[in-house]
Amino acid sequence: INFLQSLPKAELHAHLNGSIPLSCLQELAAQHASGSQATEFQSDLIRDGIDKLQKGVDLVEIHDFFKLFPAIYALTSTPDALAFATRAVLREFLDGENPQCSYLEIRTTPRRNENMTRRQYIEAVLAEVEKYDSDQAALIVSLDRRMGTEDAAECVDVAIDLRHQGRRVVGIDLCGDPMAGNMAEFETHFRRARESGLGITLHIAETAANSSVDTSQLLSFQPQRLGHATFLDEAAKKVVSDKRICVEICLTSNILCKTVPLLDDHHIVELLKNGHPIAICTDDILPFRNSLIGEYALLLAQPPLGLGVTEDKVQKLAEMSLQNRFK
Ligand code: 5GP
Repeated sequence: INFLQSLPKAELHAHLNGSIPLSCLQELAAQHASGSQATEFQSDLIRDGIDKLQKGVDLVEIHDFFKLFPAIYALTSTPDALAFATRAVLREFLDGENPQCSYLEIRTTPRRNENMTRRQYIEAVLAEVEKYDSDQAALIVSLDRRMGTEDAAECVDVAIDLRHQGRRVVGIDLCGDPMAGNMAEFETHFRRARESGLGITLHIAETAANSSVDTSQLLSFQPQRLGHATFLDEAAKKVVSDKRICVEICLTSNILCKTVPLLDDHHIVELLKNGHPIAICTDDILPFRNSLIGEYALLLAQPPLGLGVTEDKVQKLAEMSLQNRFK
């Protein structure tokens, strides 16, 4: 464990609202309960959500996972609550005696509600990110596949504007329900982002039901990194391999969401064999109860518990994660 802790490494795939420490969420829930504005519906939603997260989530399939977020969102719906949660997430990854990583790209989907605009959402998170050095933390703005194209355009506009101001927005991500949305409509948003110098990372081929049309469409957005990339067909594998597009690997997430049955079946095995660029990541430490050190431990542990990767190779993979950060 000392070896893994001392390795400089980057966490490149962590969703803000999926990475809030449970204790922080409980504190936000207590504040929410004492606030006069809480409706009965919201209180029930939050109680039920916290209860599930406390007991440990049992996911039958990946869509069960997305149902966890409305309760979390009810607690991060003001700029202050969002800043509070962001501080806790940054501390969890970067601070303390045993930081998980040396560099974190935290990603989040800007939401708009009666308390904040999307720009205010991004600025609340970014202000916390920028309290760390630029070689420690940066922000990726996520577009949710369920978003309307105008909402996606607004997120990209704000990201580009902030970047032009020299603020620390480094990339645009595509996430959310893998089966939702018309990706043809998103092409223009990702092109604008790319032309403005933002990095592009896309959740791609996450489920067996994702079509090869969807996958090839997303690859045409010219991403530098891909999230999951579990079910690439042969044509897509060739593009990813030829262009050496870095794959963000989330082992525990894939096993718990049941998109991969066992560690041995994981596509990381083929990527490792081919020396393909990858970054080991956590995805959502709140529901999955994992850690970046734990994910690296899965590489190092001998089969059947782990993949039996040598220390030398693990060190190279950690270096690779830092090389694939967005600039
Ligand atoms: P947020 O963007 O609100 O900070 O983080 C939570 C959101 O990230 C979820 O609502 C979901 O849209 C997205 N997300 C988190 N984990 C995953 C994942 O494994 N796959 C996909 N496609 N989206 C995810």
